[in-house]
This record gives sequence, C-alpha cells and structure tokens, in this order.
Amino acid sequence: MSSNYLINSIYRATEGEGIHLGTPQVFVRFQGCAIGCINCDSMDTWDFSGQEMPLVDVWDKVWNESLEGSIKRVSITGGDPLHPKHEPRVLELVKHLKERGWYLNIEAAGTRVVDSIFDRIDFISFDFKTPSTGVKTRVENLVKLCKQYKGKFQIKSVIADERDFNASLDAYNQVITMLEDAQISIPWVLTPCYETHEEFPMERFELVQELNIRNGSIFRVIGQQHKWIHGAQKKQV
Ligand code: SF4
Repeated sequence: MSSNYLINSIYRATEGEGIHLGTPQVFVRFQGCAIGCINCDSMDTWDFSGQEMPLVDVWDKVWNESLEGSIKRVSITGGDPLHPKHEPRVLELVKHLKERGWYLNIEAAGTRVVDSIFDRIDFISFDFKTPSTGVKTRVENLVKLCKQYKGKFQIKSVIADERDFNASLDAYNQVITMLEDAQISIPWVLTPCYETHEEFPMERFELVQELNIRNGSIFRVIGQQHKWIHGAQKKQV
C-alpha cells in the first residue's frame, strides 16, 4: 500500500458545527469513505482515489493554511478518516502534530473507536447515525467512548425528523442504562439536517428544539453555521 496520504482538501475555515462552533482551524479532509450515509453532504469524498500526498506535503500545506502556526489547531475529517485504509496515515499525522504541540480534533463516523488515535487526540466528535442516514451506530461504541474518553468528546446526531430524534433519545437512554451511572452527563449535540438542495429549514430547527425541550432538555441543538453563511452547497468553508 502507498505511504502517501489520500487527501480531498486541506484548508483554513471556522468550525461550523458542534460545541466548538466558531473556532478557526485547519481542516485536513481525507478522501475515501465506505459508510454510505443516504443524506451525506460530502459524497465527493467517497471514492478512494484522487490526490496523493506524502506527509511532508501535508505538513507544508497545514503550515501555510495555519498562517505559519498562528492557528495551531487541526480538525481531521473526511470522508472517513478512521477507515482502515487511512488509519496508519492518520496516526502518523497525529503524532507529527502532537509532537509540535497542536490541538487536534477528529470527526469520527461512529463505526469504530480507535484507541491508538483517540488516546493521542484532544477532542473526538463521534457520530450517532440516525435512521435517516440509513446507517446504524452500535450503542456499545458510545458506551466505550463515554467510559474511556470522558471530558474529550461529543456525540453528534443529524436529525431530519421526529423518528431521528426518537432514535437518539432511545440510544441516549440505552447508554445511560449500560453505564449504570444516573449522574453522568453526556455531551450530545443534535444537528438539524440542512440538505444541499434546501432553503434554510426553519421548521425542522423549531421541531428539533421543541422535541428536545419536551423530552427533558437532554441534548444541545446546534445547527451548521457555515451553511447559513455560505449556502448549503459551498465547500471548504
Ligand atoms: S460518514 Fe460522513 S462522509 Fe461518509 S457517508 Fe457518512 S456523512 Fe458522508
């Protein structure tokens, strides 16, 4: 296998979703994902072919995009950066950046908890895939995350409708039961779905907020700010 990195893009932008909303960082977007979410807004990242780069070029690009280290923060995303094909390169990149004192976030699709990477990274954003994605997340993965990575993760669910909300609530309750810790607070974000062909889905946002309030205000509802600003189709923002 090539030791090159399969890269979709490397660019500087402001985090547009989740609890780090509004934070400037450099995104390293890996090319290739085999998960197949029906409502994926980055289908251009699915193919495992495209731009190949050695570590030295990835680092050069990160350095330039960071304005020569003035933003020492990287989000590793995709595609699916935790696909086994990417895993050795992601681990190498993580070690390279941590040796230089950078803050690292990873966007995990929820299919795998990869200890060798998660142990080294500063923050894990872990998906719980809802029914509208057509993909399932094992609740056991969420439990493992809560047990091993307390204080450095969020769980994120994309919510298209009430069924997605109910599935998230059900998973939350299963995790709480399996953890056997009634006091635990799980940082879980609901992201109202905003598809690329849509106008801003105001009614969906209102529905998700209302469902959350009526069901114990367990979650935080945080939209995708970059889509409000730049439109739902714009890339690298
Ligand atoms: S895991 Fe991410 S990139 Fe892969 S199909 Fe799902 S939303 Fe798209």
